[in-house]
Amino acid sequence: MSKYEFQTEVSDLLNLMIHSLYSNREIFLRELISNASDALDKFKYLTLTDDKFKSTTFDPKIIIEIDKDKKLLTVSDNGIGMDEEDLIKNLGTIAKSGTKSFLESLKKEQKEGTELIGQFGVGFYSAFMVAKKIEVITKKASEEKAYIWSSTGKSDFSIKEGERESQGTSIILHLKKDAEEFLEEWRIRSIVEKYSNHIQFPIFLKKDDKEEQINKASALWRLNKSEISDEEYKEFYKTISHDNDDPLLYIHTQAEGTLTYTTLFYIPKNPPYDLYRVDYQSGLKLYVKRVFITDDDKELLPTYLRFVRGIVDVEDIPLNVSREILQQNVILSKVKKASVKKILSELKKLKKKDKEKYLEFYKNFGKVLKEGIMSEFDNRDALLDLILFKTTKSGDDLIDFETYKSRMKEDQKEIYYLIGEDENLLKNSPLLEDYKERDIEVILFSDEVDSIVVPQIGSYKETPLVAINHAKIDSDSEEIKKTEEEYKEIILKMKEQLKDQVKDVKVSPRLKSAPSCLIYDKDDPDFAMMEMLKQMGQTNLPEVKPILEINPNHPIFKKIKESQDFVKLQKITPLILDLAKLNEGMKIEDSVEFTKTISELIEESL
Ligand code: ADP
Repeated sequence: MSKYEFQTEVSDLLNLMIHSLYSNREIFLRELISNASDALDKFKYLTLTDDKFKSTTFDPKIIIEIDKDKKLLTVSDNGIGMDEEDLIKNLGTIAKSGTKSFLESLKKEQKEGTELIGQFGVGFYSAFMVAKKIEVITKKASEEKAYIWSSTGKSDFSIKEGERESQGTSIILHLKKDAEEFLEEWRIRSIVEKYSNHIQFPIFLKKDDKEEQINKASALWRLNKSEISDEEYKEFYKTISHDNDDPLLYIHTQAEGTLTYTTLFYIPKNPPYDLYRVDYQSGLKLYVKRVFITDDDKELLPTYLRFVRGIVDVEDIPLNVSREILQQNVILSKVKKASVKKILSELKKLKKKDKEKYLEFYKNFGKVLKEGIMSEFDNRDALLDLILFKTTKSGDDLIDFETYKSRMKEDQKEIYYLIGEDENLLKNSPLLEDYKERDIEVILFSDEVDSIVVPQIGSYKETPLVAINHAKIDSDSEEIKKTEEEYKEIILKMKEQLKDQVKDVKVSPRLKSAPSCLIYDKDDPDFAMMEMLKQMGQTNLPEVKPILEINPNHPIFKKIKESQDFVKLQKITPLILDLAKLNEGMKIEDSVEFTKTISELIEESL
């Protein structure tokens, strides 16, 4: 017999689970059944594709056995089984990346434990909520030896050789005193009916050597829509997703004709823990004619829909295609295309029908959808229709492009927006003054990704999008030219003094009350964009200088023009730039100098 220590994360997890999870212990059974079903899926695949197993008659089943005397509950399957190495890896570590940091954040937040089980599928370990000791007797398909894994869920487990007739796994739970309710037949029946009715394999309850099937064992997604209740859809989601919450939305499509396939997609309520990780797990299971093929095909949907969970079941693909070939499969890419359209249109419907629910969705997944705008051409319009934002007129409401367009002024030809990191600063940006005065609505984008995504939109249904800090307001107008002439000297002096920091100094056609603002040349990235690029780890960024605009109607400049006090102008010029920077949420370079000058000016004014 060999002894092994659990990986630290597993110990942490067991600890967390045993001490903080009491409300919903019954889900352990769902998790064990789900594992058994996966194991059956894998073995079934082998019997259909691997010559070694083609002659095997396979009668897949899951058996739950109650032993009241010994207080044992056993869940067995005749699936793929595990060898010694599998046992050490699968039931001793948490293979999934990101788990450690996730666990740490959980410990900090003291979140409800039930949520966590699902979020990273720690299924098996949940059995320690009800068992003081677990034994796993297992034999891997085509192997000679069977093994017994055993643990009390503290810090270690042991593995020794054992006996088992044929391939498969039995999980034997030595129930805790306070978990003896799970020896009651009715209890097991009701849990199975609730969570596992539509596992596609039969589940039997074994008592006194009699076996009775206790689930429907029909692949839920293959049933007629009219036969499936809302409740059944929801419970099925929990089984395949390990999420304990109801899904936000499900989309069931049964297509027949030139392309025959079934998809059952779920949009979760909560974001999966690995949503923003490069190595996120796919949430989709691919079946061919009801035979499970893989749950690791990230190509089934585009990455910007990576939060979608569910089933893709296709007909006309041979079962034994290799996974690599699968990636280029024409049928799958057609199913993908149709699925994307369907999901996006269902989301649009939701937005129309139930705005509150849509907002819940958007809060969690809006940013991810925006990624699609950069990669997706076919469904660009559909994606744009799903984007929400605040504007200068929306208050706390989120609106969409369609609403914006419907509210455009008669002679307005462009959609105006401003991007920044801080919503509050955005709202008060001096750049908006002119638009407010003209009663023109401006979109305020403040998601981190906006500075990358929004400039790429270009136009919405033929109306161009224009950033107001890049905008070419009619600066060539006669009036501006005249003012520029009047302020020529002031501008020249300021330009000379700030030449290392700004590209140009100009008279502003847009400012009303603020003294100054920063704008950017049409093709220059603005401050928000540069910040985003820096955060993304880009180095060697070009130095981009903004253009400083000054407000000729502001008393500061009026007075300077009158007094011709260029000594004073020299003193306040850096402040004028700093004020514009602060308004945009930028840092000022020399805050010592800034405070010094301000103090002096205050003193002078007293
Ligand atoms: P998950 O199911 O989310 O991967 P678990 O902790 O429940 O996480 O299981 C870990 C792994 O142990 C599974 O991925 C699987 O490889 C293996 N495993 C668990 N139960 C069984 C079983 N009944 N038969 C074969 N392998 C199993």
